[in-house]
Amino acid sequence: MRYIGRFAPSPTGPLHAGSLVAALASWLDARAHKGQWLVRIEDVDTPRCVPGADQRILQQLAACGLVPDAAVMYQSQRGDAYQAALDGLIAKGWAYPCGCSRKEIEDAQALLGHTRERHQAAIYPGTCRDGLHGKVARAWRLNVQRVIDDLKLATPLTWQDRLLGPQQQDVAQEVGDFVLKRADGLWAYQLAVVVDDAAQGITHIVRGADLSDNTARQIVLQHALGLPTPSYLHTPLVLGENGEKLSKQNGATALDLSNPLAELNTAAALLNLPPESGSVTDALTHWVKTYEKSM
Ligand code: GLU
Repeated sequence: MRYIGRFAPSPTGPLHAGSLVAALASWLDARAHKGQWLVRIEDVDTPRCVPGADQRILQQLAACGLVPDAAVMYQSQRGDAYQAALDGLIAKGWAYPCGCSRKEIEDAQALLGHTRERHQAAIYPGTCRDGLHGKVARAWRLNVQRVIDDLKLATPLTWQDRLLGPQQQDVAQEVGDFVLKRADGLWAYQLAVVVDDAAQGITHIVRGADLSDNTARQIVLQHALGLPTPSYLHTPLVLGENGEKLSKQNGATALDLSNPLAELNTAAALLNLPPESGSVTDALTHWVKTYEKSM
């Protein structure tokens, strides 16, 4: 079977226990399938990127025995590919400019009686879908319903997660016309990730469960751009002190590279793999064998 997997960290800081789970799971899945494992540095959101974090992440991965099989891709160098994708969507009538400020979107939502869930972007009410109404273009959005109608995609969209099982989402209703290029001129994660997964020939995506909610949007974009849909597996999350996903804000510290095996054992436990002693290389070899049996 053809298998190309990837780990796609954002260089907003060094790897911590949570990000190592996704890295190890994606590496093991690739090795167990006799596939390739790539690393892509997702540095499109430049204000959130920390200088040097990319090198630190690559060193941390190497210390844990996780070395990519090809050159590392940097999203900051991929602007032309993202622009070409956006141009293609505009040409099909599937992307439109939006002149709304965040405040305007929230006010329109309030008028419709919609409240915003914690951590969720407001569902865009579609104000600029039929034109800018004299406003200045700020961002570019995908006309989700038009893509669904033109391509006769199912509503709700359904897909299979290899770990979480059958999934579904009504992207037009639950997410709305999401952003492709942001008002500040930066490329949106959704567009960049879909364009790059296809460019790198990714067949299998293994990543943290906090990203699961993005999958339907990415599948819609894959259809709109005529790109294949990879298979998806979302790994369990490491929780921080406050019971939420481990992050820098709730106590995540950089991996302790004086003892990479201890860090790997913590990540492996979350993936239901037995503790290993000895060298990092031996531990990884044993885990690949255990993982293969569980497939
Ligand atoms: N760069 C994203 C993050 O670190 C992950 C993207 C992905 O795996 O799809 O949250």
